[in-house]
Amino acid sequence: MKPAADSCASMDALLLDYAYGELEGASRREIEEHVALCPRCRSALMEVAQTRHAMAALTAEPAPEAGLESLLAYASQAAEQRKAAAPTASFWRWLVPAVSLASVAAVGIVFIARPSHDQMSLPVPAMVA
Ligand SMILES: [Zn+2]
Repeated sequence: MKPAADSCASMDALLLDYAYGELEGASRREIEEHVALCPRCRSALMEVAQTRHAMAALTAEPAPEAGLESLLAYASQAAEQRKAAAPTASFWRWLVPAVSLASVAAVGIVFIARPSHDQMSLPVPAMVA
């Protein structure tokens, strides 16, 4: 019986962990049973294994000094650009409290200007002579 496509999708996430020996117990057995029945996932697992084998043949190279220097220069340049953009940030720092204060003032004006409920509903007594 061929496994469902959605089970293959859930296996994709685990195949790499399995290939690196990082799966144990039920997850490991689930992968092994699935790969035994599924040509697609068996092929994917073989590709991962071949890639691992090819990568293992490469020797580790130390990072070049020039790379580190250019990275530090880039970080320094980015910090300078951020410092130059600071006036925009201070504008936003003042805008938010100003808008908040204006909103509170507008609400206060509406409440003060609105006639109270008691004054509107009480009838003025008529003086009949
Ligand atoms: Zn599969």
